[in-house]
Amino acid sequence: MLGAGVRDTDPPTLFDKIISGEIPAAIVKQDDKMMAFKDINPAGPAHVLIIPKDRNGLTRLGKASVEHKEILGHLMVTAAEISNDKSLGFGDGARIVVNDGPDGGQEVMHLHVHVIGGRAMQWPPG
Ligand code: 5GP
Repeated sequence: MLGAGVRDTDPPTLFDKIISGEIPAAIVKQDDKMMAFKDINPAGPAHVLIIPKDRNGLTRLGKASVEHKEILGHLMVTAAEISNDKSLGFGDGARIVVNDGPDGGQEVMHLHVHVIGGRAMQWPPG
């Protein structure tokens, strides 16, 4: 499904290519709506990215509207499940982050939730 103003000719993102299998990734969890896989350049002992399989206009969180409530909730519940998974290297909690746009440090324009853990995080982030 595509949101208003989103054309199905939009070029596939790097993460679309991970979903299709064109680019390999260490997948830790997936269902029909989302995929979670290990970050190729981990910012901690454990670092998982969670993405919607259908972007539906969600290049970035700043594009979210009421039609995205369900998938956003699903991504956050999945983040909780992953951060509680000791087999992935997480301890007691994690840094769960969405980088939004250039000022937020976002590089891949396909909404993703970072779940980073396995060490104590510092605040504020850089
Ligand atoms: P952003 O800066 O957009 O919030 O985060 C993008 C993340 O994607 C970065 O943490 C980066 O390491 C990760 N990444 C970039 N390319 C690949 C890739 O080909 N495979 C995987 N698994 N992660 C990637």
